[in-house]
Amino acid sequence: MEYVTLSNNVVMPKLGFGVFQIPKDICEECVLNAIQIGYRHIDTAQSYFNEEEVGNAIAKCGIPRTELFITTKVWIDNYGYDKTKSSIETSLIKLKTDYIDLVLLHQPFGDTYDAYRALQDLYKEGKIKAIGVSNFAPDRLADMVGFNEIPPHVNQVEVNPLHQQVKAQENMIKRSVQMQAWAPFGEGKNNMFQNPVLTEIGNQYHKSVAQVILRWLMQRDVVALAKSIHIERMKENFDIFDFELSQDDMNKIAQLDTNTSLFFNHQTPETVDWFLNLIQDRKNKI
Ligand code: NAP
Repeated sequence: MEYVTLSNNVVMPKLGFGVFQIPKDICEECVLNAIQIGYRHIDTAQSYFNEEEVGNAIAKCGIPRTELFITTKVWIDNYGYDKTKSSIETSLIKLKTDYIDLVLLHQPFGDTYDAYRALQDLYKEGKIKAIGVSNFAPDRLADMVGFNEIPPHVNQVEVNPLHQQVKAQENMIKRSVQMQAWAPFGEGKNNMFQNPVLTEIGNQYHKSVAQVILRWLMQRDVVALAKSIHIERMKENFDIFDFELSQDDMNKIAQLDTNTSLFFNHQTPETVDWFLNLIQDRKNKI
């Protein structure tokens, strides 16, 4: 495993296991399998509806809590100082842990400032070891860094070979914010796993497209969160620490960038409307 050190000296495994869209009934088993394979960094969220199952795996896995790195994210509907604090107390109970390694504000909409102040206070109390944001564009991130007592340690954004976020990463490095990549495979959109450039690069090292993508992120110093419900793919995605992409490979991958999200552009009013509808849908589920 490789690691990054956050601006507050917290050490984070560079490869994490994401549990978005893993159904409740198989999530505990998937996380146990991932931990068995060697993953120590698990990424969940209040809005994934599987914190409890992640917590069951944490409790049962037999690995000391201090060796695990657990992230959750506060859902927009839980923003606001008191609501955020109480939602994190609920997350602590569901995750069956005394502290959470990293808590992020999931989306850059709504009452982010009061929510962030709650994260800061829980951080000072030691209940959260690092705090941050997710899906914050460069201007919003600069604002959060500039106008808060404790700047975000992390910003989790979509990063994959078709949406590389080079400028966004430069902005994060400048502000000592660690970039994390969600959907490193773009969930397979645009035939990512069949991409000819990535396939050819992988063939040189006897590695798959998924392994090339994760290796590329490691070499860009981006923390990658990969999701799979299949043990063989979990193993494949973990087997990326025995090869190095050449500068020529890195340059070829750089050329795949389209500067366009495969999912949403967080900076349009339509996206805000979409999230408002989603909040309504999810209101009773959290
Ligand atoms: P992803 O990791 O890019 O892609 C997951 C998809 O790829 C799944 O359909 C999986 O299928 C497939 N896959 C995984 N490994 C594979 C392999 N080696 N070969 C072929 N197919 C493979 O997408 P994601 O789950 O959306 O993102 C990863 C994590 O990022 C999430 O789980 C979550 O923790 C985080 N995330 C955060 C946000 C945010 O807003 N902060 C948004 C999205 C995601 P199977 O499961 O069937 O194997």
